[in-house]
Amino acid sequence: MDPDKKTIVVLGSGWASTSFLKDIDTKYYNLIVISPRNYFLFTPLLPSSTVGTVDLKSIIEPIRFTSRHKTRDIKVYEAECTRIDPENKTVMIKDVPSNKVKESERSVSYDYLVLGVGARNSTFGVQGVDRYGCFLKEAKDARKIHNRLMACVENAALPGQSPEEIKRLLHMVIVGGGATGIEYAAELHDFLIDDLRTWYPELADKVKISLVEALPSVLPQFSQKLIKYTEGNFRKQDITIHTKTMVKEVREKELVVKAPDDSIETIPYGLLVWATGNTTTPLVNDLIQKFPETQTHKKGLVVDDWMRLKGCEDIYAFGDATATRYAPTGQVASQQGKYLARYFKQLYIRQALEEQLKKGLGEKEKEKVEKKFERVKEIKPFHYSHHGSLW
Ligand SMILES: Cc1cc2nc3c(=O)[nH]c(=O)nc-3n(C[C@H](O)[C@H](O)[C@H](O)COP(=O)(O)OP(=O)(O)OC[C@H]3O[C@@H](n4cnc5c(N)ncnc54)[C@H](O)[C@@H]3O)c2cc1C
Repeated sequence: MDPDKKTIVVLGSGWASTSFLKDIDTKYYNLIVISPRNYFLFTPLLPSSTVGTVDLKSIIEPIRFTSRHKTRDIKVYEAECTRIDPENKTVMIKDVPSNKVKESERSVSYDYLVLGVGARNSTFGVQGVDRYGCFLKEAKDARKIHNRLMACVENAALPGQSPEEIKRLLHMVIVGGGATGIEYAAELHDFLIDDLRTWYPELADKVKISLVEALPSVLPQFSQKLIKYTEGNFRKQDITIHTKTMVKEVREKELVVKAPDDSIETIPYGLLVWATGNTTTPLVNDLIQKFPETQTHKKGLVVDDWMRLKGCEDIYAFGDATATRYAPTGQVASQQGKYLARYFKQLYIRQALEEQLKKGLGEKEKEKVEKKFERVKEIKPFHYSHHGSLW
């Protein structure tokens, strides 16, 4: 750490923060990365890792690998940020449970804070989701789904199981008809119906996949053409879509739902994957409350086109933690990360030239510096360029 340089603290090691880290020039700043996971996770291949098509290890990259390739040292702390103190420019961090020796909180100071903490799964307050359902966001979720999936199939293969129990165990339910839910239903189909047929021929025809969605159609944010294509494909693959169906409660072995005709029904299941979208993390909620006049969005942090947090000029935020006009995708987050790295380089150069101009320079030198300053004075806002959908 160079005491003459400003320190940027980066929260998170996801799409936004990792792309920022890869591009930031450490010549200009000290860098500290704080994240409860010390690796980047390539989320588009997470569904495939639940069924073993790809190995989890092949879709993660250690943050220390990224930091090792920088020209100057970056500090990496595997910890969770629990609080931000914008007045004193510090963050409080806590060890992750697996590393915890004893309860300990530490404070880390910053000149600039870059926040890329993403979002967490939304349960809409439905009881039992956390306890009995599986999310699909982190590596540990993929491991849990894989274990449950295989337990369901192996239990169904045990001798003496009743036909009802086999039916329940082999009923895989996905809640949420967004991109993640749809992708996962298709992935499960390929694995259970196609791949498993060789290993469990007696069970393959008994597997059933259902998708539950509260809205009138799946993929509401996509085009009608894609919706029709998906529905047609699912029909062919015998994946049942229950639209206008609201989950009211999740029990250990069954879901309680309100059907389109308002009747209450129960759906027995073996595996339940909950993919109903995102909500803000506790850290983001806490920060929103600190700026009641400028942070007025419930879906995330409000930032300007330079990713500066509205209401606090030393804090920047990007990715799923923010509420912007862009979709919450890795594609957006990684472009924002790249942009912010360029932004900070220009900011440094601009500030350095400003300092020079404050000093008494000779006429010729002053003219030269002023010209350079003109070139970097205006920092262009972020512009998203869509390169197609990975979904
Ligand atoms: C299954 C799945 C498939 C997807 N497929 C695609 C796809 O094909 N294409 C696409 O563009 N997008 C896809 N996405 C969406 C994409 O993953 C997200 O939009 C993207 O991860 C958002 O990036 P982020 O950096 O904002 O957050 P994340 O990538 O979620 O990273 C957040 C980081 O913050 C850390 N963190 C959390 N809390 C704290 C804290 N308190 N202190 C410090 N660190 C913290 C987390 O550990 C993590 O490292 C998919 C998502 C999922 C779940």
